[in-house]
Amino acid sequence: MTDLTVLSVVSEIFPLIKTGGLADVAGALPPALEAEGVHTISLVPGYPAVLRGIVDPVSVYNFPDLFGGPANLLRGTVEGLDLLAIDAPHLYARAGGPYFDADGHDWPDNAQRFAALSEVGARVGAGDVAGIEPDVLHAHDWQAGLAPAYLRFRGGRQPGTVMTVHNMAFQGRFWAGLLGALHLPPESFTINGVECYGDIGFLKAGLLFADRITTVSPTYAAEIQTPVWGMALDGLLRSRASVLSGIVNGIDAAVWNPAADNLIVADFSPNHLERRAANKSSLQAWFGVETTRERLLFGMVSRLTWQKGVDLLLGAMDEVLRLGAQLVVLGAGEPALEGGFHAAAAAHPGRIGAVTGYDEAVAHQIQAGIDALLVPSRFEPCGLTQLCAMRYGALPVVARVGGLADTVIDANEAAIAAGTGTGVQFSPATQEMLEAALRRTAALWQQPDAWQRLQRNAMRQDVSWRRPAVQYAALYRQVASAVPR
Ligand code: ADP
Repeated sequence: MTDLTVLSVVSEIFPLIKTGGLADVAGALPPALEAEGVHTISLVPGYPAVLRGIVDPVSVYNFPDLFGGPANLLRGTVEGLDLLAIDAPHLYARAGGPYFDADGHDWPDNAQRFAALSEVGARVGAGDVAGIEPDVLHAHDWQAGLAPAYLRFRGGRQPGTVMTVHNMAFQGRFWAGLLGALHLPPESFTINGVECYGDIGFLKAGLLFADRITTVSPTYAAEIQTPVWGMALDGLLRSRASVLSGIVNGIDAAVWNPAADNLIVADFSPNHLERRAANKSSLQAWFGVETTRERLLFGMVSRLTWQKGVDLLLGAMDEVLRLGAQLVVLGAGEPALEGGFHAAAAAHPGRIGAVTGYDEAVAHQIQAGIDALLVPSRFEPCGLTQLCAMRYGALPVVARVGGLADTVIDANEAAIAAGTGTGVQFSPATQEMLEAALRRTAALWQQPDAWQRLQRNAMRQDVSWRRPAVQYAALYRQVASAVPR
């Protein structure tokens, strides 16, 4: 039985359309929330993939003119998700990604495309669509940032509002001359409105007008209040610190389950760690490195960008070799970083393997076969790969930032004595400290009993959506009860 309804306004949702972790959150949180008495309706743009995938859609509302053309609001389902999709061909019916064309350029009308998402969100939130009366509107990232602002400007029925930041690096800033075209009142263009350093700021508006702000880990919630990681919005976030909190993400514990994963060679569990060995040798063979149990095998699964500190690992390659270790990398991103790993693999074929591209199956095989996962991110709002690694008994070696700081327990002397360590942390995120962490990891790996205890600790962490769902449900109930009706 659910007693609270949340309208989740989001620009991507797994399994229909995904460019990153946001889609995973949008798709996995609703089913976990059902267990907490919260029903979620997810509002998404009607990209071709969404309209192809939505099951049993029925029209629930018509917009004669939604930012330049007619639109139809469809309600349907997919894999248990309750969906609203905005069928607006002039905005969303195009080949390419949700945000970029095939050449990687922003769609020129992204302001209108995501203002439309936000405005429809505000109208559904206000109760315009018969039969839907959300208690809470939950806006995700800049694409939904205007929804709390539109709600405020139009007045009338007000659900509680939550704005979640998945990555401060993306803020949705657009030319001030679009104010009227985006249906924003002239008086809203102030520092206490949608104005953001001379532009219209979608994320800024959401951060200002939402009742509550969340981000995807407590440490990132603190970091974004500092000038370095607040990315020009730290002052606003500090002024709203009393309504800002962090809730770490989970992973889908059914998809990432080493005891029942048909993408890996051998299933295993905390009590049958010896079965992991088959995954290690198969992974070594697949990457073309020496097949041996005698070498510590490091791995990385990542977007290859500055954020992820991938250049630090390239710089630390000599240390990997000096330790006698191996490294396998799966990633895609900046060509110079991709090229760096290919060059390293070519120079040290028995020890380093690199594959560029996006491959879900190989990602599972890496987590199941490596000894330790490297995540040297400069900043990391939450991070999912370290959670997958822990569940698969690969110890995460992480920079102590954002969600990495909150989800990995450093295996220092005290933690080992108390039996609580789940990985290795280092700080700051520099090549020198990464190298020191590699040495520390290698020293731990030399002690098989201690290492296996750490593996079991890591595997027994609850990294599912159960706990985050409890926290989101409590937050929704707070904002819903604070709204006068
Ligand atoms: P971000 O969202 O910043 O890219 P996260 O760690 O939050 O980083 O989420 C990344 C997700 O994408 C993880 O589930 C990871 O396994 C997956 N991933 C990243 N790169 C690849 C790749 N090249 N192939 C397969 N999966 C990948």
